[in-house]
Amino acid sequence: MSKAQNVDPNEIRKFEELASRWWDRNSEFKPLHDINPLRANWIDALAPVAEQHILDVGCGGGILCEALAQRGAKVTGIDMGDAPLAVGNLHKLESGVSVSYEKSTAEDYALSHASQFDIVTCLEMLEHVPDPGSVVRACAEMTKPGGTVFFSTINRNPKSYLLAIIGVEYILRMLPRGTHEYGKFIRPSELGGWIRESGLQLDQMTGLLYNPITKTYKLDERDVDVNYMICARKPL
Ligand code: SAH
Repeated sequence: MSKAQNVDPNEIRKFEELASRWWDRNSEFKPLHDINPLRANWIDALAPVAEQHILDVGCGGGILCEALAQRGAKVTGIDMGDAPLAVGNLHKLESGVSVSYEKSTAEDYALSHASQFDIVTCLEMLEHVPDPGSVVRACAEMTKPGGTVFFSTINRNPKSYLLAIIGVEYILRMLPRGTHEYGKFIRPSELGGWIRESGLQLDQMTGLLYNPITKTYKLDERDVDVNYMICARKPL
Protein backbone atom coordinates (compact mmCIF):
# COMPACT_ATOMS: atom_id res chain seq x y z
CA MET A 1 0.00 0.00 0.00
CA SER A 2 2.98 2.34 0.43
CA LYS A 3 3.84 2.40 -3.25
CA ALA A 4 2.28 5.29 -5.12
CA GLN A 5 -1.31 4.30 -5.74
CA ASN A 6 -3.49 5.07 -8.69
CA VAL A 7 -5.93 6.97 -6.48
CA ASP A 8 -6.94 10.63 -6.42
CA PRO A 9 -7.77 11.45 -2.75
CA ASN A 10 -9.98 14.36 -3.82
CA GLU A 11 -12.11 12.00 -5.86
CA ILE A 12 -12.46 9.55 -2.97
CA ARG A 13 -13.42 12.44 -0.66
CA LYS A 14 -16.19 13.60 -3.03
CA PHE A 15 -17.88 10.21 -2.83
CA GLU A 16 -17.26 9.82 0.92
CA GLU A 17 -19.10 13.10 1.56
CA LEU A 18 -22.16 12.02 -0.39
CA ALA A 19 -22.16 8.38 0.67
CA SER A 20 -24.98 8.54 3.25
CA ARG A 21 -27.41 9.33 0.41
CA TRP A 22 -26.16 6.56 -1.92
CA TRP A 23 -29.42 4.59 -1.82
CA ASP A 24 -31.69 7.64 -1.84
CA ARG A 25 -33.18 7.51 -5.32
CA ASN A 26 -33.78 11.28 -5.28
CA SER A 27 -30.25 12.25 -4.27
CA GLU A 28 -27.08 12.94 -6.23
CA PHE A 29 -27.12 9.23 -7.00
CA LYS A 30 -30.44 9.39 -8.87
CA PRO A 31 -28.70 9.09 -12.26
CA LEU A 32 -26.96 5.86 -11.18
CA HIS A 33 -30.26 4.42 -9.92
CA ASP A 34 -32.03 5.45 -13.11
CA ILE A 35 -29.47 3.88 -15.46
CA ASN A 36 -29.01 0.76 -13.34
CA PRO A 37 -31.69 -1.48 -14.92
CA LEU A 38 -30.47 -0.53 -18.41
CA ARG A 39 -26.85 -1.35 -17.68
CA ALA A 40 -27.62 -4.51 -15.68
CA ASN A 41 -29.77 -5.76 -18.58
CA TRP A 42 -27.05 -4.93 -21.10
CA ILE A 43 -24.44 -6.79 -19.06
CA ASP A 44 -26.71 -9.78 -18.45
CA ALA A 45 -27.57 -10.02 -22.16
CA LEU A 46 -23.92 -10.01 -23.26
CA ALA A 47 -22.60 -12.17 -20.42
CA PRO A 48 -25.38 -13.96 -18.50
CA VAL A 49 -24.54 -13.32 -14.86
CA ALA A 50 -26.35 -16.09 -12.96
CA GLU A 51 -23.89 -18.22 -10.96
CA GLN A 52 -20.94 -16.21 -12.33
CA HIS A 53 -18.17 -14.78 -10.16
CA ILE A 54 -18.19 -11.05 -10.72
CA LEU A 55 -15.84 -8.32 -9.51
CA ASP A 56 -17.22 -4.77 -9.53
CA VAL A 57 -14.35 -2.25 -9.46
CA GLY A 58 -15.20 1.14 -7.91
CA CYS A 59 -18.48 -0.30 -6.63
CA GLY A 60 -19.44 2.65 -4.40
CA GLY A 61 -22.51 1.85 -2.28
CA GLY A 62 -23.26 -1.22 -4.37
CA ILE A 63 -26.05 -0.20 -6.76
CA LEU A 64 -24.73 -2.43 -9.55
CA CYS A 65 -23.42 -5.15 -7.17
CA GLU A 66 -26.87 -5.70 -5.70
CA ALA A 67 -28.61 -5.76 -9.08
CA LEU A 68 -26.20 -8.42 -10.33
CA ALA A 69 -26.45 -10.43 -7.08
CA GLN A 70 -30.24 -10.35 -7.40
CA ARG A 71 -29.83 -12.04 -10.77
CA GLY A 72 -27.90 -14.86 -9.12
CA ALA A 73 -24.29 -13.68 -9.53
CA LYS A 74 -21.65 -14.10 -6.82
CA VAL A 75 -20.45 -10.54 -6.51
CA THR A 76 -17.45 -8.89 -4.87
CA GLY A 77 -17.27 -5.10 -4.88
CA ILE A 78 -14.05 -3.15 -4.32
CA ASP A 79 -13.70 0.58 -3.74
CA MET A 80 -11.24 2.92 -2.02
CA GLY A 81 -13.94 4.86 -0.15
CA ASP A 82 -14.66 3.69 3.42
CA ALA A 83 -18.05 5.40 3.58
CA PRO A 84 -19.42 3.95 0.33
CA LEU A 85 -18.30 0.47 1.42
CA ALA A 86 -19.94 0.93 4.84
CA VAL A 87 -23.16 1.97 3.09
CA GLY A 88 -22.95 -1.09 0.83
CA ASN A 89 -22.48 -3.38 3.81
CA LEU A 90 -25.48 -1.88 5.62
CA HIS A 91 -27.73 -1.83 2.59
CA LYS A 92 -27.20 -5.47 1.70
CA LEU A 93 -28.61 -6.38 5.13
CA GLU A 94 -31.71 -4.40 4.33
CA SER A 95 -32.18 -5.92 0.90
CA GLY A 96 -31.09 -9.40 1.93
CA VAL A 97 -28.71 -9.96 -0.99
CA SER A 98 -25.25 -11.40 -0.62
CA VAL A 99 -22.33 -9.22 -1.79
CA SER A 100 -18.76 -9.10 -0.42
CA TYR A 101 -17.17 -5.68 -0.15
CA GLU A 102 -13.47 -5.01 0.21
CA LYS A 103 -11.37 -1.87 0.32
CA SER A 104 -8.85 -2.08 -2.49
CA THR A 105 -7.67 -0.56 -5.71
CA ALA A 106 -8.00 -2.65 -8.86
CA GLU A 107 -4.21 -2.83 -9.11
CA ASP A 108 -3.70 -4.16 -5.55
CA TYR A 109 -6.54 -6.64 -5.89
CA ALA A 110 -5.07 -7.95 -9.13
CA LEU A 111 -1.86 -8.93 -7.31
CA SER A 112 -3.74 -11.74 -5.54
CA HIS A 113 -6.67 -12.34 -7.92
CA ALA A 114 -5.22 -13.09 -11.36
CA SER A 115 -7.76 -14.78 -13.69
CA GLN A 116 -10.29 -15.18 -10.85
CA PHE A 117 -13.49 -13.68 -12.24
CA ASP A 118 -15.87 -14.66 -15.04
CA ILE A 119 -16.94 -11.05 -15.36
CA VAL A 120 -15.33 -7.80 -14.24
CA THR A 121 -17.35 -4.57 -14.27
CA CYS A 122 -15.91 -1.08 -13.85
CA LEU A 123 -18.64 1.50 -14.39
CA GLU A 124 -18.51 5.28 -13.99
CA MET A 125 -15.11 4.99 -12.30
CA LEU A 126 -12.33 5.36 -14.89
CA GLU A 127 -12.96 9.12 -15.21
CA HIS A 128 -12.10 9.51 -11.50
CA VAL A 129 -8.61 7.94 -11.47
CA PRO A 130 -5.21 9.42 -12.42
CA ASP A 131 -4.23 6.51 -14.70
CA PRO A 132 -7.29 4.78 -16.20
CA GLY A 133 -5.14 2.59 -18.46
CA SER A 134 -3.67 0.95 -15.36
CA VAL A 135 -7.18 0.11 -14.08
CA VAL A 136 -8.11 -1.38 -17.46
CA ARG A 137 -4.97 -3.57 -17.29
CA ALA A 138 -5.79 -4.73 -13.77
CA CYS A 139 -9.39 -5.56 -14.78
CA ALA A 140 -8.08 -7.61 -17.71
CA GLU A 141 -5.65 -9.50 -15.45
CA MET A 142 -8.41 -10.44 -13.01
CA THR A 143 -10.69 -11.81 -15.75
CA LYS A 144 -10.58 -15.54 -16.53
CA PRO A 145 -9.64 -16.45 -20.11
CA GLY A 146 -12.96 -16.53 -21.95
CA GLY A 147 -14.42 -14.01 -19.52
CA THR A 148 -15.94 -10.60 -20.11
CA VAL A 149 -15.11 -7.08 -18.94
CA PHE A 150 -17.46 -4.10 -18.94
CA PHE A 151 -16.48 -0.44 -18.71
CA SER A 152 -18.53 2.72 -18.78
CA THR A 153 -17.38 6.32 -18.76
CA ILE A 154 -17.94 9.69 -20.46
CA ASN A 155 -16.59 10.71 -23.87
CA ARG A 156 -14.45 13.86 -24.24
CA ASN A 157 -15.63 16.40 -26.85
CA PRO A 158 -17.47 19.76 -26.90
CA LYS A 159 -20.87 18.05 -26.78
CA SER A 160 -19.99 15.98 -23.71
CA TYR A 161 -18.64 19.12 -22.01
CA LEU A 162 -21.94 20.89 -22.69
CA LEU A 163 -24.22 18.01 -21.73
CA ALA A 164 -22.34 16.16 -18.98
CA ILE A 165 -20.90 19.20 -17.18
CA ILE A 166 -22.82 22.36 -18.10
CA GLY A 167 -26.16 20.55 -18.53
CA VAL A 168 -25.99 18.04 -15.70
CA GLU A 169 -24.09 20.08 -13.08
CA TYR A 170 -25.08 23.70 -13.84
CA ILE A 171 -28.45 23.71 -15.60
CA LEU A 172 -30.29 20.57 -14.51
CA ARG A 173 -28.27 20.34 -11.26
CA MET A 174 -28.55 16.58 -11.20
CA LEU A 175 -24.98 16.28 -9.85
CA PRO A 176 -22.98 18.65 -7.63
CA ARG A 177 -20.63 21.03 -9.44
CA GLY A 178 -17.20 19.52 -9.72
CA THR A 179 -18.41 15.92 -9.83
CA HIS A 180 -16.80 15.51 -13.22
CA GLU A 181 -13.67 17.07 -14.69
CA TYR A 182 -13.66 17.51 -18.44
CA GLY A 183 -9.97 16.66 -18.78
CA LYS A 184 -10.56 13.24 -17.24
CA PHE A 185 -13.22 12.21 -19.72
CA ILE A 186 -12.15 9.37 -21.99
CA ARG A 187 -12.63 8.96 -25.73
CA PRO A 188 -13.73 5.52 -26.93
CA SER A 189 -10.53 5.41 -29.02
CA GLU A 190 -8.43 5.85 -25.86
CA LEU A 191 -10.36 3.24 -23.90
CA GLY A 192 -10.23 0.95 -26.93
CA GLY A 193 -6.45 1.36 -27.04
CA TRP A 194 -6.02 0.38 -23.37
CA ILE A 195 -8.38 -2.56 -23.90
CA ARG A 196 -6.29 -3.88 -26.80
CA GLU A 197 -2.99 -3.24 -25.01
CA SER A 198 -4.37 -5.31 -22.10
CA GLY A 199 -4.95 -8.28 -24.40
CA LEU A 200 -8.74 -7.89 -24.46
CA GLN A 201 -10.89 -7.80 -27.58
CA LEU A 202 -13.45 -5.07 -27.96
CA ASP A 203 -16.84 -6.67 -28.54
CA GLN A 204 -19.64 -4.11 -28.25
CA MET A 205 -20.16 -0.46 -27.49
CA THR A 206 -23.34 1.46 -26.76
CA GLY A 207 -24.26 5.00 -25.82
CA LEU A 208 -26.42 5.84 -22.83
CA LEU A 209 -28.64 8.80 -23.69
CA TYR A 210 -30.55 11.07 -21.33
CA ASN A 211 -33.71 12.84 -22.45
CA PRO A 212 -34.19 15.88 -20.16
CA ILE A 213 -37.82 16.32 -21.26
CA THR A 214 -39.02 12.82 -20.37
CA LYS A 215 -36.25 12.41 -17.76
CA THR A 216 -35.55 8.95 -19.07
CA TYR A 217 -32.50 7.11 -20.36
CA LYS A 218 -32.09 4.77 -23.27
CA LEU A 219 -29.32 2.83 -24.98
CA ASP A 220 -28.32 3.81 -28.51
CA GLU A 221 -25.46 2.09 -30.31
CA ARG A 222 -25.19 4.94 -32.81
CA ASP A 223 -24.53 7.69 -30.29
CA VAL A 224 -21.51 7.32 -27.98
CA ASP A 225 -20.91 11.10 -27.87
CA VAL A 226 -21.49 11.45 -24.12
CA ASN A 227 -22.08 8.47 -21.78
CA TYR A 228 -21.13 5.08 -23.16
CA MET A 229 -20.46 1.46 -22.18
CA ILE A 230 -18.02 -1.02 -23.64
CA CYS A 231 -17.98 -4.82 -23.53
CA ALA A 232 -14.63 -6.57 -24.06
CA ARG A 233 -13.71 -10.25 -24.05
CA LYS A 234 -10.56 -11.96 -22.78
CA PRO A 235 -9.49 -14.59 -25.33
CA LEU A 236 -9.32 -18.21 -24.18
N1 SAH B 1 -19.45 1.95 -10.06
C1 SAH B 1 -20.49 2.49 -9.21
C2 SAH B 1 -20.07 3.79 -8.49
C3 SAH B 1 -19.54 4.90 -9.39
S1 SAH B 1 -19.01 6.32 -8.45
C4 SAH B 1 -21.73 2.67 -10.03
O1 SAH B 1 -21.62 2.91 -11.24
O2 SAH B 1 -22.84 2.58 -9.49
C5 SAH B 1 -17.23 6.12 -8.56
C6 SAH B 1 -16.67 5.25 -7.44
O3 SAH B 1 -15.30 4.98 -7.73
C7 SAH B 1 -16.72 5.87 -6.05
O4 SAH B 1 -17.32 5.01 -5.14
C8 SAH B 1 -15.25 6.09 -5.70
O5 SAH B 1 -14.97 5.94 -4.31
C9 SAH B 1 -14.59 4.99 -6.51
N2 SAH B 1 -13.18 5.21 -6.81
C10 SAH B 1 -12.59 6.33 -7.29
N3 SAH B 1 -11.26 6.13 -7.48
C11 SAH B 1 -11.02 4.84 -7.11
C12 SAH B 1 -9.85 4.03 -7.10
N4 SAH B 1 -8.68 4.51 -7.53
N5 SAH B 1 -9.96 2.75 -6.68
C13 SAH B 1 -11.16 2.25 -6.28
N6 SAH B 1 -12.30 2.97 -6.28
C14 SAH B 1 -12.23 4.26 -6.68
